[in-house]
Amino acid sequence: FQRIKEGLRKSSSRLASGITDIFTKRKLDAAAVEELEDLLVMADLGPATAAKLAAAISKERFDKEVDPDEIRGALADEVAAILEPVAKPLTTDSGAKPHVVLVAGVNGSGKTTTIGKFAKHLQAEGKTVMLAAGDTFRAAAIEQLKVWGDRTGATVVAKEQGADAAGLAFDAIERARREGVDVLLIDTAGRLHNKSGLMEELKKIVRVIRKMDETAPHDVLLVLDATTGQNAIAQVETFKEMVNVTGLVVTKLDGTAKGGVLVALAERFALPVHAIGVGEQADDLRPFAARDFARGLMG
Ligand code: GDP
Repeated sequence: FQRIKEGLRKSSSRLASGITDIFTKRKLDAAAVEELEDLLVMADLGPATAAKLAAAISKERFDKEVDPDEIRGALADEVAAILEPVAKPLTTDSGAKPHVVLVAGVNGSGKTTTIGKFAKHLQAEGKTVMLAAGDTFRAAAIEQLKVWGDRTGATVVAKEQGADAAGLAFDAIERARREGVDVLLIDTAGRLHNKSGLMEELKKIVRVIRKMDETAPHDVLLVLDATTGQNAIAQVETFKEMVNVTGLVVTKLDGTAKGGVLVALAERFALPVHAIGVGEQADDLRPFAARDFARGLMG
């Protein structure tokens, strides 16, 4: 909890002081509600969620003297209620061997890092893990995945830059089967500037995977960078058109003032949030705990 609270400090300090400014020695009147709504929008909770939260906390307090701490507490409770249904750790117990996890997201969102962190986490649970360098477009992405392979001891299946990503996924599943690997994590390209090319590539990867195992991919994770704020919403929309996104990982929650976007994402898409990234190290991937996050966010 402490790590999450520290990470969210930039998001929470603005919210906490904003709430103090609005509600110190003042009744909860229509103008105060409007100011609260603006504050929540500025904290990236999105207009719909901001309106919903402001309405929820003012319902029984309207025209009454309130205390900023009480408002912060009430908001944290409301936020936790929105987040609780989506807080679901990643389970890799489909029974399939390998359990196949496809990892998507725009370049720089933290895909490769998240894969490395997951690998370490799964290994700690006693699972064997294989990584597939499916972002064949960028040499740096292949290299970076190999670094995580060295760090974790997980086998990395890679081909040369420019190789067919679907072919690589095929090879990776074959090898994972041969070696009895529990979980296969497949990295993918994230060049959103070439949307139709990327869509074709992702669809082809999924087709090939499904041909080998009709229950796979068992998870399609979309990795989102929290520092992009509301843009993360647009990214979910875009990727949902390309692949059947089954869950989210939100990275870089350390040191951004835009942590509130997670609440907007939960409200809008109701997709499971499997984990959050709070740093660059292997241990900086945390299970997403709704109540801790809500309390951290509201200071
Ligand atoms: P990819 O292009 O989507 O594969 O993104 P990378 O995994 O290469 O990550 C891009 C950059 O973000 C790297 O410098 C990572 O170390 C950094 N990064 C990833 N996750 C986090 C996080 O949770 N917190 C912070 N501070 N940095 C992160």
